[in-house]
Amino acid sequence: MNVRTRFAPSPTGYLHVGGARTALYSWAYARRNHGKFILRIEDTDLERSTEQSVNAILESLKWLGIDWDEGPFFQMQRLARYREVAEQLIASGHAYRCWATKEELDSLREAQRARGDKPRYDGRWRPERAKAAGLAAPRDRPPVVRFRTPEEGESLWNDLVKGPISFPNAELDDLVLLRSDGVPTYNFGVVVDDIDMSVTHVIRGDDHVNNTPRQLHIFRALGAGLPRFAHVPMILGADDERLSKRHGAVSVTQYRDDGYLPEALVNYLARLGWSHGDEELFSTAQLVSWFDLEHVSRSAAQFDPGKLAWLNQQHMKHASNERLAALAEPALRALGADPLRGPPLERVVALLKDRATTVPHLAEAARFFYEHESPSPALLGEHLTDAARPVLRALKAKLAESPGWDRQAISAAIKHALASSGLKMPQLAMPLRVLVTGRAQTPAIDAVLELLGRETVLARLAHYLDSD
Ligand code: GLU
Repeated sequence: MNVRTRFAPSPTGYLHVGGARTALYSWAYARRNHGKFILRIEDTDLERSTEQSVNAILESLKWLGIDWDEGPFFQMQRLARYREVAEQLIASGHAYRCWATKEELDSLREAQRARGDKPRYDGRWRPERAKAAGLAAPRDRPPVVRFRTPEEGESLWNDLVKGPISFPNAELDDLVLLRSDGVPTYNFGVVVDDIDMSVTHVIRGDDHVNNTPRQLHIFRALGAGLPRFAHVPMILGADDERLSKRHGAVSVTQYRDDGYLPEALVNYLARLGWSHGDEELFSTAQLVSWFDLEHVSRSAAQFDPGKLAWLNQQHMKHASNERLAALAEPALRALGADPLRGPPLERVVALLKDRATTVPHLAEAARFFYEHESPSPALLGEHLTDAARPVLRALKAKLAESPGWDRQAISAAIKHALASSGLKMPQLAMPLRVLVTGRAQTPAIDAVLELLGRETVLARLAHYLDSD
């Protein structure tokens, strides 16, 4: 079988991480099975769809590395096709025109509610009923097209994630396929497109489970083969409510802007609701080689920002220094530091990347290489003690005359200064670190000094030691 999957977002906002995960599963499934992945923009909600959102979605997918083989197709460019299929369904008796007004439908619904019934369209424009009731097509307004839903029996399918699901047809009414302005409803557009695009596997959020029985009827009425369905459970926040803005960042672009690596977000989202044994840390290529629908979880998953940060840290460790330096550069500038006024950023990043959780965090850790950060008075007071001061001065002299400037030479100078002082290593290393970097925590001090360079180190030490 030639697997063909699709992602069909509605362009009404940014790409939510839940949508991104659905896209990822569809994409990985197609890639795993050497199939095709199709991108379709479901832009029929004219009031809420925007070009800006289309761009945000495309940009987010590209950033994540989710590439598509066909599309993007836009439903609003396919209106003629939906009209054609609607006519076909009318001709075969599976659909009919309905002229019920909004007022009529409102009062129908009210009457049903008053009786304690579920509000539903009563099929009054089904041709045989309209005829029996003497209803004639009004000429003053355009009709909608409705589907003639079977009133008996059941709709069932074997969901690839959730297992067998069945729905009594009696619960479904005659849904609108085409609105009076000729724009299809979601359920109609999706079926026409899934048929025309030969989609074999519909992988989507389980908020669409209730739509599937309606879609099955339309597929059958059109004599089309059925795709397989896989409904993926929702992503929840820590309070078990559906993940939304209230819980923090939920858009893919926000994670990009917050300095996460795309492969980390891919890893996190893939693992959230799917597993491959105990693997937590994997590459996008590994995901593609392992992905299956059998191991998609049946229950909703809880979004854990802490785990995402941990994964990002792991992926940062594996990222190349060149790439991290390119990412950290604008972040450093944003912190007011000039990445050209100091050691090569790639070398700084190499020293720091094991500990950073995000790119801004990395830039923050790198800042003192490019700007002399003054320690707080408290930090200075704590470490620049009367006992340390003369030893630091001796060390400074030693560093000034050291024949070489590498870690060994720097360590030797430190040991030499320590030897005659009676201080222990931390009693010298800490004030040294605080004076040169302004911070109490940095990587190994000899590595830091080596990278900073002799001139900078001596100038920074002089700032505190030469004035007295
Ligand atoms: N436009 C729908 C959505 O964004 C697509 C659902 C589907 O994949 O069928 O939820």
